[in-house]
Amino acid sequence: MAVAVKGNTYGLYIDGEYGVPRDAKTLPVINPATGEEWATIVDASAADVDAAVRAAQRAFEGAWGATTPGARARLMHKLADAIEARASELAEIEVRDNGKLLREMGAQLKAIPGWYRYFAGLADKIEGETIPMERPTLFNFTLREPLGVVGFVTPWNSPLLILAFTAAPALAAGNCIVLKPSEFASVSSLEFAKCFEAAGFPKGVFNVVTGSGAVAGDALTRHAGVARIAFTGSAATGARVAAAAAGHYASVGLELGGKSPHIVFADANLDAAIPGLLSGIFAAGGQTCIAGSRALVQREIYDEVQRRLLERTRSIKIGDPFLAETEMGPMANEPQLKKVESYVEVAKSDGARLVTGGGRPSTAALQRGYFFEPTIFADVRNEMRIAREEVFGPILSIIPFSDEAEALRIANDTMYGLGSGIWTSDIGRAIRMARGIKAGTVWVNTYRAISYQMPFGGYKASGIGRENGIEAIRDYTQTKSVWIETEPVAGDPFAIKV
Ligand code: NAD
Repeated sequence: MAVAVKGNTYGLYIDGEYGVPRDAKTLPVINPATGEEWATIVDASAADVDAAVRAAQRAFEGAWGATTPGARARLMHKLADAIEARASELAEIEVRDNGKLLREMGAQLKAIPGWYRYFAGLADKIEGETIPMERPTLFNFTLREPLGVVGFVTPWNSPLLILAFTAAPALAAGNCIVLKPSEFASVSSLEFAKCFEAAGFPKGVFNVVTGSGAVAGDALTRHAGVARIAFTGSAATGARVAAAAAGHYASVGLELGGKSPHIVFADANLDAAIPGLLSGIFAAGGQTCIAGSRALVQREIYDEVQRRLLERTRSIKIGDPFLAETEMGPMANEPQLKKVESYVEVAKSDGARLVTGGGRPSTAALQRGYFFEPTIFADVRNEMRIAREEVFGPILSIIPFSDEAEALRIANDTMYGLGSGIWTSDIGRAIRMARGIKAGTVWVNTYRAISYQMPFGGYKASGIGRENGIEAIRDYTQTKSVWIETEPVAGDPFAIKV
C-alpha cells in the first residue's frame, strides 16, 4: 500500500502514523531518468522535527525501552523478513527516486535484510564487564546502555543501504531513530517505514522527517533531545553537522566523500583490472562515495590500459535504469548533472586530455533525463582540480606512475581517505601498499565490495568512525561504571580514593 496521504504528497512518518502537517510546504520528487515530477514530499519544519524527536523519546522511555534484547532481536528478524517481502517494490522506488539501475538497487535491497539479521544476532551480546580492582573489597562492573534517540541524515545515492549501516546497530542496542533522508530521494525511506509496522515494532521507534538540509536537517542535528548524529553526505555538510552536534554534546559518526585511488601495477591481471577500474567509476554513474575516480596506472602499461578502458567505455549502454541491459542511468538530480558538466571544463582548462565522453548523450530518448556520458581524462596530474575534488559522477582521471613509492605518494596526496584499490599479482607488494595507503578500505584485486561484517569508514576528510562489523554497535551504547564497596569504612573525606 502506498503511503501518499494527500493527493500524491507523501506524509511524514511520526509515531507510527503518516501525516501531512497543516500548512505544510512541499518539495517535488523528480524521476531523473525522465525529468518528470511523480510525487511530492513534505518540506518539514523545525516543529515537525521536534514532534518526531519527542515521539522517539516517548518510545524510548516506554515500550521500546522495556523490550528485552531477545525481543529486540526477534523484531529485527521480522523487519528483515518484511524488507525481503517488499524488496522488489522498494528497489523500484529507489530507481524512480535516484535513477540508479534496477540491477544495482535490486542487489542492494536483496542484501539489506542481512544487515538487520547480523546486528539482531548481537542484540543479546552487548555485555558489560566485571573489573578486577586493586582493593579486594570493591566489586566493580560496567553496564552498556543505549544512548536514547539517535538522528540519521542520509544522502540520495543509496538511501536504504546507507540507512541499514546505522539503523541496524542502533536498533540492536535499543535506541530509537529519527531519519532525515535526502530531499532528492526520500520516498523509499517513507515506504521502508511500513516494514517496521509489518514487523510489529512499537510506535515511535522509527520516524522519518523529509525536507531540506537547511531546515529539517539542521533542526535534527541541533536538537538537544538527540544523543548521536550519524551523517552520510559531503565533507562540507559533514563539518557543519559536526559543529551543530557539538552544540548539544551529541556524539557524531561521519561518512563523507572520497577521491579514491585505484592503482594498477604492470604485473596485474588486466582481464580483471579493467572491469575493476570500470566498476569503480562508472557503476552507479560514479555517484558513490567509494568511486575510484583516480586511476593510477604504471607507465609500462599506461597505453594498453587506456586503450582497453576506452574500448569498453565506448560500449557502455546508457539509458532507462529499469531495463536489464542498461549499464549506466542518469545523474540523480539536476544540480548533480550541472556539477558533473562543470568539471569537464575545469579539467580541460587545467590541461587534462579528454579521451572520451565529456557531455550529455545525443540520443533523442535521453534528452529529458539527467544523463551524462562516461568520461575519461588522461595525462592528469594529481595537482589538477579534477584529481583533488570529489565530482561524484562518471569522470575518471588517469594518472601515470613509475614505482611503488610514487604510487603511494600520489595515492595519499589527497584530503580524502575512504576507498582504494590495488591490482597486482605480487602479494608482498599488495601488503606493502595496503599498509601504506591512508584510507579506511583497501581492496586488492577487487573493488566496490561491502559487507555488514567489515568495518567501513574514512581517514582524514572522509569521515569519523566506522560503520559495519561487530564494533559498530559500541557507538550506539554508552558505558556506565558501577563501584560497590562490600565493606564500607569511614575513610578520609578530604582525599580522593585512588
Ligand atoms: P549532501 O551533503 O549535500 O547532503 C547529505 C544530507 O545532508 C541530505 O539529507 C541533506 O539534506 C542534508 N543536509 C544538507 N545540509 C545540511 C545541514 N546544514 N544540516 C543537516 N543536514 C544537512 O550530500 P549529497 O549530495 O546528498 O550526497 C553526496 C555526498 O555523500 C558525496 O560527497 C558522497 O561522497 C557522500 N557519501 C558518502 C558515503 C559514505 O559512506 N562515506 C556514502 C554515500 C555518499
